[in-house]
Amino acid sequence: MDLRDCCAADHDSTTMELLPQREASRLPSDVSHSALTELLEVGRDTGSLDREAALFLASRAPLADLIAVASELRARGKGTVVSFSKKVFIPLTTLCRDYCSYCTFRKDPGQPGAHFMTPDEVQGLAERARDAGCKEALFSLGDQPERIFPEARDFLRQQGFTRTLDYAAAMCEMVLERTGLLPHANPGVMDRAALERFRESNASVGLMLETVSTRLMRNGLAHFKAPDKVPALRLRTIEEAGKLSMAFTTGILIGIGETFEERVDSLFAIRALHEKYGHVQEVIVQNFRAKPDIPMAHHPEPSMDDMLRTIAIARLILGPHMNLQAPPNLSYADFPRLLEAGINDWGGISPVTKDFINPEAAWPQITKLRTETEARGFILRERLALYPQFVTSGKFLSARVRERAQSLADAEGFAA
Ligand code: SF4
Repeated sequence: MDLRDCCAADHDSTTMELLPQREASRLPSDVSHSALTELLEVGRDTGSLDREAALFLASRAPLADLIAVASELRARGKGTVVSFSKKVFIPLTTLCRDYCSYCTFRKDPGQPGAHFMTPDEVQGLAERARDAGCKEALFSLGDQPERIFPEARDFLRQQGFTRTLDYAAAMCEMVLERTGLLPHANPGVMDRAALERFRESNASVGLMLETVSTRLMRNGLAHFKAPDKVPALRLRTIEEAGKLSMAFTTGILIGIGETFEERVDSLFAIRALHEKYGHVQEVIVQNFRAKPDIPMAHHPEPSMDDMLRTIAIARLILGPHMNLQAPPNLSYADFPRLLEAGINDWGGISPVTKDFINPEAAWPQITKLRTETEARGFILRERLALYPQFVTSGKFLSARVRERAQSLADAEGFAA
């Protein structure tokens, strides 16, 4: 269906199901078209809604109107440029002390695929990626496996470390030094000492907030056995990174049992930290995908309309200048539609490794990404592990990383 044709359609049913009853009952049942239009205009003109307005629009505005306003905001802040980063995915360890119900990445020792990468393996992969034209080394790893697995402690001891975080930081330093790839570490919850060390070698670091819902930690829900998914811990990591002026990637994960209100609250929590420190370089809206071998194998996936509605609300909350990303590989053939809702980035695309977090979902080839993006009137540009405004500012980088990033960038801060 052409989205322009459904302006008069009612809100999609998913949204109302997701809104908790108390929130839905507060909303007037006979919302006038002019009230909606007025709020949409506020969103378009100011580029940042308050919470009540965001919830109101999330539940009442026709999807086509929402995405039209979100697209206008994106155009105002980003023009027609849509970016991506050519990266290699380095799965440093699949061991993890958490058991998120949607995860296929984590392994226990002894399971097929359980591993820690040695320094030689890390260097070999990074060299292959550099030779293939990558500029970013994305380190992904489980959270603090040494806290519960002796095998993890033994491996770390052999390498001269006691914490996975310190080993990860050392591998980032090695990759920067020996290959010139810009590291972007995604190592889970970090304390200040770890952040300080990552800052020396990383262009940016990442931690998905996922959700501010503590409710999901209840028995049987997605984060029941995931001590590192306590929202306060994750918000504290993002805040500490802000105090240290580190460019930060975060985002929300949708469809894991949260309500739409909780999504909106998560976006406001991110906005509040960015308003304080100016360090959030991008916000990802990632959709849950069911896989056969996970506890949530039969949990319903968010629909494309739900995804578009969430992205559009995110654009309205975060404003025209925030970089908003959705992973193309998790929407399969429908991925170009994500552009309709106000994203301006496709994230990291790897020419040398699969998506280890979602191994069943292949990345589109860069040529396909370009064709589909440009067919919709956008210009696809390669960026580095940090966004142009962060490259040119230089404030968020150590001297060593700034020098390397600027040598890889053009005058506007994109990949040269
Ligand atoms: S999502 Fe991350 S923290 Fe959760 S189990 Fe998987 S690797 Fe561990």
